[in-house]
Amino acid sequence: MNTPNEFLAPTLCVVVPCYNEKEVLAESAARLTSALESLVSANLVHANSFILFVDDGSKDETWALIEGVASRFERAEGLKLSRNRGHQNAVFAGLMEASADVFVSIDADLQDDISVIEKMVREHIDNKVDIVYGVRADRSSDTRFKRFTAEAYYRILSVMGVEVVFNHADFRLMSARTVRALGSYREVHLFLRGLVPLIGFKTATVEYDRSERFAGESKYPLRKMLSLAWEGITSFSARPLRMIFLAGASVSFLSFIAAIVAIFASISGATIAGWTSIMVMVAFLGGIQLLSIGLIGEYIGKIYIEIKDRPRYFVDVRTRP
Ligand code: UDP
Ligand code: MG
Repeated sequence: MNTPNEFLAPTLCVVVPCYNEKEVLAESAARLTSALESLVSANLVHANSFILFVDDGSKDETWALIEGVASRFERAEGLKLSRNRGHQNAVFAGLMEASADVFVSIDADLQDDISVIEKMVREHIDNKVDIVYGVRADRSSDTRFKRFTAEAYYRILSVMGVEVVFNHADFRLMSARTVRALGSYREVHLFLRGLVPLIGFKTATVEYDRSERFAGESKYPLRKMLSLAWEGITSFSARPLRMIFLAGASVSFLSFIAAIVAIFASISGATIAGWTSIMVMVAFLGGIQLLSIGLIGEYIGKIYIEIKDRPRYFVDVRTRP
């Protein structure tokens, strides 16, 4: 019945997180379904392949649009989360709730080049690669501010010992077993870019040019971006805690030397009214201590949240049971 080729072709699920995406949804759905259609006709992926739109608790008509898309296109499905849980959780929910042989996650605004999906699938089939990272070849479509902060951030991550793929966001292919492995991580503060490299297996990268959003505006304001950046460091590295210890140790050492100098100065009678130096020391030490306590508090806060082991999302409705 099946040609041998079709028999071997993996079932692909494209996971698309959507939050207030009414401006882009119809167009993105059309582009994605036609891209998937050509992968199916090329026998690269199985005819059961589908696109899963995950509505991350949108406040606009996104879910109604997803339902419409799902009824019009056979290869489109929808999943609505019970409320807004953020991009990382939406992608995670899509990966966990769908069953397929291979998954690709991509943003709803299609800033990532969808023609690269074919390259990713070929890497998976031809070279038995489990994880294929989409990597931006250049960042010329970004503002100078975004480019500068992004690069500084990657540098900070690597100083902190967090392993991430340079210039890779969440456009990636994952095989079923890596998705299963991902599901076994219990943490609530998701930072997929840090988690996926921890899984291991054979990986590859494909380059692409990232374009601008074709409609609508970014759902990632600076506040959400900073919070994701902070997760990336504090969920993956305990190095800031060690840096406090080192700072404390060096300050103590310097104070020790200063004390000896002061004693000698006092013995030789060369004492002066040291009000200024005392004030400087007190302020400096007070500052370091507050900073350190705050940082320790950050980690304790994390322990507090993680220990609850709260569920990361709930599914509200599905277009297909
Ligand atoms: N997104 C989401 N939940 C959120 C915020 C964003 O699912 O709380 C989705 C959004 O719909 C899009 C993707 O995450 O598909 C990336 O968001 P966006 O394109 O606005 O970010 P940017 O590309 O500007 O960094
Ligand atoms: Mg975007």
